[in-house]
Amino acid sequence: MAEGLVGGEGFAVDASLIRAEANRQTFHSGEEGLPAELSTRAVDEYLAVLDDAAFGGASQAVPPRISPSDPASRYTSAHGGRAEFCYATNYLIDVEHAVIVDVEASTAVRQAEVTAAKRMIARVHDDLGLWPRKLIGDTGYGSADMLGWLVNERDIEPHIPVFDKSARTDGAFDRTDFLFDHELDHYTCPAGKQLRHFRRTGHVDHNRPNADGLYRYRASKLDCDACALKPRCCPGAEPRKVLRSVQEGARDLARVIAQEDEWITSRRERKKVEMLFAHLKRILRLDRLRLRGPNGARDEFHLAAAAQNLRKMAKIIPMSQPAMA
Ligand code: SF4
Repeated sequence: MAEGLVGGEGFAVDASLIRAEANRQTFHSGEEGLPAELSTRAVDEYLAVLDDAAFGGASQAVPPRISPSDPASRYTSAHGGRAEFCYATNYLIDVEHAVIVDVEASTAVRQAEVTAAKRMIARVHDDLGLWPRKLIGDTGYGSADMLGWLVNERDIEPHIPVFDKSARTDGAFDRTDFLFDHELDHYTCPAGKQLRHFRRTGHVDHNRPNADGLYRYRASKLDCDACALKPRCCPGAEPRKVLRSVQEGARDLARVIAQEDEWITSRRERKKVEMLFAHLKRILRLDRLRLRGPNGARDEFHLAAAAQNLRKMAKIIPMSQPAMA
């Protein structure tokens, strides 16, 4: 930062899987868990991070295999190829010179990588006073929760594709065929009818979002039953329903950003963090950890990131000339 290598304007985030120091053929089934008599430092560390949102608390899914030598590592084939026990190294970089501004070890599941991204953004703000204008990431960071956190809590522009599974494959009208009116808080369908929040008579508002953070906007049954477009919209007996996330405003902002010219630049800048991971594995040869447990992974990931930053500085900052004798 003192040399002006960190712009603090745009950050990119990504994660890469690194194999753990654990034999894929030696394991206990996830259902059975570890034998009670197994007691090693790696097991103690595994128990210590069971509720950590970047490790055991990241997913309720029972892992198919648990390694007795490094139980906190995750058996996964997430990035293709055969399944291995892995950790994820998460990088937050400043895109101006691809300087790594923070690094975090996590378990190898997407939810943990999103948690790691939030922790790194909060940490560089608190520790270094860095507050980027934009964050660049792939679809894995495009959940409604993450986009809402960036926009509403951190005031950071999400240069991230929106994770959206609402597209219909049965030829029916998509959610994008329904226009939302912010002021009047309703959708207008292709037939010009309104879809509103579900309300009952009386003064009780049943308008709260569900536990999944989604509002349900519904058309009137009378409108749909009399509509010529019904076969393309809601062929069943139920009137048409459109779901809207409580974070839809942040999702809409991300969609607007994806249409702007700067989006192309951001896509190119995202490659910088991928290149750092390629360099980490091919040149620094950190495709497999030497140490076990979350602390071992943290130590190796931090040292490797420091080495990459030092190489970067050596390349960019001109060496002072040795004084003549
Ligand atoms: S079926 Fe209902 S929601 Fe769909 S276009 Fe017709 S009136 Fe609108």
